[in-house]
Amino acid sequence: MVVAGGAGFLGSHICRRLLADGCEVICLDNFSTGNEENVADLSALPEFTLLRQDVSEPFDIDGDLHAVLHFASPASPVDYLQLPLETLRSGSLGTFNTLELAHRKGARYLLASTSEVYGDPLIHPQHEGYWGNVNPIGPRSVYDEAKRFAEASVMAYHRTRGVDTAIARIFNTYGPHMRAHDGRAIPTFIRQALANEPITVAGTGAQSRSVCYVSDLVEGLVRLLDSGSTGPVNLGNPQEMTVLELAELVRQICGCDVEITFVARPEDDPEQRRPDISLAGELLDWAPEISAEVGLKDTVAWFGERLGQGSERIERFG
Ligand code: NAD
Repeated sequence: MVVAGGAGFLGSHICRRLLADGCEVICLDNFSTGNEENVADLSALPEFTLLRQDVSEPFDIDGDLHAVLHFASPASPVDYLQLPLETLRSGSLGTFNTLELAHRKGARYLLASTSEVYGDPLIHPQHEGYWGNVNPIGPRSVYDEAKRFAEASVMAYHRTRGVDTAIARIFNTYGPHMRAHDGRAIPTFIRQALANEPITVAGTGAQSRSVCYVSDLVEGLVRLLDSGSTGPVNLGNPQEMTVLELAELVRQICGCDVEITFVARPEDDPEQRRPDISLAGELLDWAPEISAEVGLKDTVAWFGERLGQGSERIERFG
């Protein structure tokens, strides 16, 4: 198996799960937003290989491959706004290069797409038949449109080259191995609460999000990989809450009494997000099992251990 972006948050969990399932894993990463430490514990395993590779550049892999999973892309707004051209390249050239690899090897292909293809959605909850409401020239378009282009590329390789493909539309996912400073709401809230600093909520906090714990997501991804489904299939947790409720929940789990303050909302920030996961239920017999309360407790504990190890380490993870 090749996992492109395997040293990132989601990629590192997928590598771990595939190894636990008995697969050999080749992890490709250019470490732009990921970290070798995310997979450091795997490097001693003979079934695991870590290669520094920018998948937006042409590359090849020796030997047979069962599957190629394309997770290589900056994914948090802070990252993709800092790396706009790299993000467009990962979604376009990176998708072409990984699809070419799957085509050459006769391997199954899985694209990590995103709920951001729905943009600021005009229907709620979002189902796979909805084509989205994306601003093609706004600052976020480098991510949203790159993923939409990536989906189009996957379908073109499927239709014209017969590649066995799957598209997962991943909704907000959280858990251990996120970076404390990646700018996404959950690690930001946890970092602030654990440091006894005010929690900063964007806008009024009335916008909604639905957050999925990483182990549930990985289970859905593995089921999609093992199925014959092309997708796209939504994978996420439909337990919807406002961003303010999320901040309050994190504060309660961290057991601190910090203030919640309000900061400017990013441009084109979606108003609402909730996956319709009936297709994943039908095709994959999948639904998430971990509530936000339980998943956040685990995540807070993980961050707590790392923050306890000193600011130098947090800077490296951050
Ligand atoms: P992440 O930033 O932690 O992981 C991305 C990984 O890809 C990093 O290790 C980075 O170094 C690597 N990478 C980036 N560009 C690369 C390139 N050109 N060549 C090789 N490696 C490259 O982010 P994540 O949250 O783990 O997201 C992983 C994938 O899942 C992304 O494609 C993202 O769009 C998708 N996704 C994530 C979420 C989520 O909630 N976490 C939601 C929707 C979609």
